[in-house]
Amino acid sequence: MNGGAGKLFVLSSPSGGGKTTVLSEVLRRDPTLRYSVSATTRPPRPGERDGVDYHFMDPGEFDRRIRSGGFLEWAEVHGNRYGTPVEPVLGWVEAGERVILDLDVQGALDVKRSAPRSVLIFLLPPSLSALRERLERRGTDRPDAVQSRLAAAEREMAQCEQYDFVIFNDRLEDAVDCLQAVLRHAGDPQHRSTCNGASNEGIIDG
Ligand code: ADP
Ligand code: 5GP
Repeated sequence: MNGGAGKLFVLSSPSGGGKTTVLSEVLRRDPTLRYSVSATTRPPRPGERDGVDYHFMDPGEFDRRIRSGGFLEWAEVHGNRYGTPVEPVLGWVEAGERVILDLDVQGALDVKRSAPRSVLIFLLPPSLSALRERLERRGTDRPDAVQSRLAAAEREMAQCEQYDFVIFNDRLEDAVDCLQAVLRHAGDPQHRSTCNGASNEGIIDG
């Protein structure tokens, strides 16, 4: 995993923290950045496309992929399973590309264990009440699901200290600029902090 010349980044946040929104803008601005499309057993949300947002698969196929070693990591999150297909990620890293994964906290820490030079980035919402408003406004989760995502959010946010960078997603534009800056400079040993607040200084191992 560490043999390639590329760079592996992992973005996490609580559900509703803004990963999809921030990352889609960063990917639009930076076409050379590779995004790893995960597999999941959860059903598609309206507008989600198979192979673009996720590889949607039934539990049986997901099991077969686990058994054949097809995932770099996988985890159960909010009652569904999610996994990172191993092949494209390894191929890109070997080819010297920058690759970003959108993973829950368990997945991010697994990747860090198997690839210690990977860079973990946590997107932090301004507050739990702002997170609740965003989840409600997004309108994709029933009220009981919003409640369980908020309960999980507190536990997940407590783990952000294990990440190399923490970015506040208050103003969207600032969060996008900040993520771009981290992706551009995190491999540079001179670069130990970033724009809007974050930095778990010295942890970075690029
Ligand atoms: P995630 O992918 O982490 O679950 P989303 O990207 O779906 O989160 O964001 C959750 C909701 O919050 C979406 O409706 C999105 O439009 C909104 N959102 C994201 N970032 C911001 C922001 N900085 N300010 C206001 N709303 C935001
Ligand atoms: P959602 O269902 O809202 O798209 O994602 C739910 C959670 O699953 C998010 O925290 C997201 O980061 C995480 N996730 C998505 N893909 C993967 C994956 O391949 N592995 C792991 N461990 N988590 C993932």
